[in-house]
Amino acid sequence: MGKTIIISNRLPVQLQISNGTITAIPSVGGLATGMKSVHSGGDSLWIGWSGLTDEEIPKKLAPKIDEALAAHGSSKVNLNAAEVDGFYFGFSNRTIWPLFHYFLEYSEFELDSWNVYKAVNQKFADAILEKADDDDTIWIHDYQLMLVPQMVRDQRPNISIGFFLHIPFPSFEIFRTLPWREEVLQGLLGADLIGFHTYDYERHFLSSVRRLLGMEVSFNDIYLDNRIIKVDSFPMGIDYKKFSEAAKEHQKNTTAQQSDLQQRLNSHKKSTPDAKLILSIDRLDYSKGIAKRLNAFEYFLNKYPQYKEKVRLIILAVPSRSNVPQYQLLKKEVDELVGRINGDFSTVSWTPIWYFYRSVPFENLIDLYTSSDIAWLTPLRDGMNLVAKEYIATRTDRTGVLILSEMAGSANEMNESLLINPNNFEQIADALYEAINMPVAEQKSRNAILQKRLERYNVEKWANDFMSSLQAQKDRDAANVSKRLTENRLNAVLDDFKKAKKRLLFLDYDGTLSGFHVDPQKAGPDKGLYALLDALVSLKNTDIYLVSGRDKDTFTKWFLPKKYNMIVEHGVWISQNGEDFRMLENVKNDWMEKIRPVLESFVDRTPGSFIEEKTYSLAWHYRKTDPDFGNLRANELNTVLTSLIANDDLSVLNGNKVMEIKSSNVNKGRATVRVLGEGDYDFVFAIGDDWTDEFMFQELPESTVTVKVGRQKTHAKFYIDGIKYVRGLLERFTE
Ligand code: UDP
Repeated sequence: MGKTIIISNRLPVQLQISNGTITAIPSVGGLATGMKSVHSGGDSLWIGWSGLTDEEIPKKLAPKIDEALAAHGSSKVNLNAAEVDGFYFGFSNRTIWPLFHYFLEYSEFELDSWNVYKAVNQKFADAILEKADDDDTIWIHDYQLMLVPQMVRDQRPNISIGFFLHIPFPSFEIFRTLPWREEVLQGLLGADLIGFHTYDYERHFLSSVRRLLGMEVSFNDIYLDNRIIKVDSFPMGIDYKKFSEAAKEHQKNTTAQQSDLQQRLNSHKKSTPDAKLILSIDRLDYSKGIAKRLNAFEYFLNKYPQYKEKVRLIILAVPSRSNVPQYQLLKKEVDELVGRINGDFSTVSWTPIWYFYRSVPFENLIDLYTSSDIAWLTPLRDGMNLVAKEYIATRTDRTGVLILSEMAGSANEMNESLLINPNNFEQIADALYEAINMPVAEQKSRNAILQKRLERYNVEKWANDFMSSLQAQKDRDAANVSKRLTENRLNAVLDDFKKAKKRLLFLDYDGTLSGFHVDPQKAGPDKGLYALLDALVSLKNTDIYLVSGRDKDTFTKWFLPKKYNMIVEHGVWISQNGEDFRMLENVKNDWMEKIRPVLESFVDRTPGSFIEEKTYSLAWHYRKTDPDFGNLRANELNTVLTSLIANDDLSVLNGNKVMEIKSSNVNKGRATVRVLGEGDYDFVFAIGDDWTDEFMFQELPESTVTVKVGRQKTHAKFYIDGIKYVRGLLERFTE
């Protein structure tokens, strides 16, 4: 077992320098707590930025800092002020943060900060590489480090890497506006497991991968040439026990033990016993919808004036990123709004809003949570929102009402709260009304369900789930190895090849010898491929056949002058030793008149798709079509065709982004078996990548060496990872 390396922008320890000495204090945040079970003992390491720039660290203290961090299993990445500016305040918080929270208009696309982001990501990757062994497990956190997975993968192809995104992943339509969208996706795809808070973020990510990179996605697996990446959702929980127990202890406090804040809250309650306290806590961030909430509060007071002097809104806004201009503007806006609403509504004995712009210690947080009748959280967009979960955890007597924005990730798991759309003031005002008047029994029954779920799926469970899923991914990879054409297995195959007196090789073309192209005519052979095929064809006692679904005209143009043996249109035509194509199978094509108009109607209604007409088959291609739409139409076409061809001797082949209608008695298996019968072969080899090649794998004799390109399910004996590897393999036959 290797060690675990955790990487996040910030380390889970705070450094304090005073009087020339350094102290490292562990953070108490959710992530640090959740990772406790992962980051403990001597077999784990946490790498991140210390929070101090190079300029802020006195030279002679530097070694001491390393020591202090090492005592907490941590190791720092050094960043200077310019790097923090470009990487953190720049690209992370002025490009990615607003974009991923759907604030397109706030996103700045600055080449300079992108370059710093890349360079700093490389620094983090280098810090990992310096410490990592091949059997280690790496867990990379969040949007500041999205390029790190691939940077590590480049140097350590076999290491196990997980990535978790703590903020939303936006819809493809938003994500596509990022100038460096492909680079960001490629960076993430260095991981073996990519985790999100919710299924929505997961599907947005998968949709971007398919649309922008054209990669194959099956359920939540992404198929790369040589790896399968798993994408899944893991909703992050809280340290439930810590909050519920703190709340229980809090109740036992005598008046003397109570904080000033608690005493103030008590005296308020005493003076207006039937008034309700409404609480909202957020970082002062535009994604949290604080200004909108204030406006909605005003709307509520006007719609339900009977609650004037009967409710008080406590707003705790925690200072955040105050050197980013957008946050300074927001601060001004909120200050002014609070002032105006309080000015408009206050009476001699009542101020509607208590506004705090600061962070408070944990005990005050508990004061606020336990004293408030209603928690009112209305982010416009929020990756998760832990405050909602914390409020519920502190309600030990199960009273209290949570009003939560449906735009928060946590809304997915907190259906028993009052869910609102933060832009719908009418609905919000009514939700406040409902919360104020909700019978205690109903509050309790809702919270009982919420508490049970939060207690079970706590932050520790979240971290462990992610780690076991990453481990399972590793195991799946290991299980896959049973079919991988490893060096040893290949050597055995090459031995048989050498010993054989007469050999026969069947090579599929598209997806095996050459890559896919949106225009199939552009996927022609390159010089390297011709050279490879020439070398194979010149081998003594060896017959090579290209076996393809392509039309005979294209292959005539590409390969007939070379005199390669060819079987095309899935086995309708054959050409040997440079002779013209002749029919291998007697088939009809009079059915085409009936089918063509159907395909044409699909082309008309499916932009980007087209018909390829071969002599004995018709193919409908949809590689250029939007992937979801293409699949939808392909299913539809399948249904239409199945009923249409029921009485003809036709079948539909579902290839890679193509559906082909052809005579049932034609397939690559039948054709290759016929060729096999023409000679006395004692070594037979077949390689191919898609569904149509499975006919060869199934119908050729058991002794055939069958190889599948890619990791999809197959009847072949072995699999190999991609075109690059296929060419390497075939070269070995020529050595
Ligand atoms: N919090 C805090 N001090 C405060 C107010 C809040 O430490 O004065 C904590 C709160 O307990 C919660 C976190 O800040 O754990 C906010 O997390 P959330 O997911 O709600 O929002 P984020 O700030 O991550 O966007």
